[in-house]
Amino acid sequence: MIITDTHTHLYSEAFDTDRIEMINRAIDANVKRFFIPAIDSSYTESMFQLEKAFPDNVFLMMGLHPTHVKENYLEELKHVEKQLAKRKFYAVGEIGIDLYWDKTTLDIQIEAFKYQINLAKNYKLPIVIHCREAFDEIFEVLEQEKSEDLFGIFHCFTGSLEQAHQAISYNMKLGIGGVVTFKNGKIDQFINQIDLKHIVLETDSPYLAPKPYRGKRNESSYINMVLEKLSELYGESVQDIASITTENSKAIFGI
Ligand SMILES: [Zn+2]
Repeated sequence: MIITDTHTHLYSEAFDTDRIEMINRAIDANVKRFFIPAIDSSYTESMFQLEKAFPDNVFLMMGLHPTHVKENYLEELKHVEKQLAKRKFYAVGEIGIDLYWDKTTLDIQIEAFKYQINLAKNYKLPIVIHCREAFDEIFEVLEQEKSEDLFGIFHCFTGSLEQAHQAISYNMKLGIGGVVTFKNGKIDQFINQIDLKHIVLETDSPYLAPKPYRGKRNESSYINMVLEKLSELYGESVQDIASITTENSKAIFGI
């Protein structure tokens, strides 16, 4: 069984004391593929180191995270563009709009989002979307930018059934993680109405640990709790869900 964690910040400071052990723990738990979203240029070097240490397991994305779209965002976008021109990445991400942390940067967040969508189109790469309190704004951009070349993952999907269908209509798969195990997470109420072909698994570690670790540091091996929850909700075996979602991840990332 091969499980794919489509969104894990393995380079995070939260893992500074036990990163290698933590990654090996995940590999031992059948999590063999890690897709690593970028945040900003300050993490690029540690992402490369991670790839060097685990070349068969680690696949990098490049992008500017919406909460890091600040005064220097043009410089940061240039960094993203340069890196994409220089070497292989598997997605442009994570990108999007976050109105939870800062509403005053909405205009430049939208600008950075669109700019990076176009980079993804140029390189025929998927996008990985971060959306927090910004479904309307994200869908507005996707409506303007939609095309056959635009596809990817709606990471940490926490919307309604209707919003799930809307995301899928823009060629997005839904990234499902720890929230599906939460009592008030809501997506557990309807997720089994979405065909598994639209679902990929993720942890977003070190954030959003599933039950029973909610509130604690998350790590990629905990994706097994997400898998078990989906198995229960869909009435399918853990093996089948791991296999289908890994195939979905291959279709998106091309590896
Ligand atoms: Zn993330």
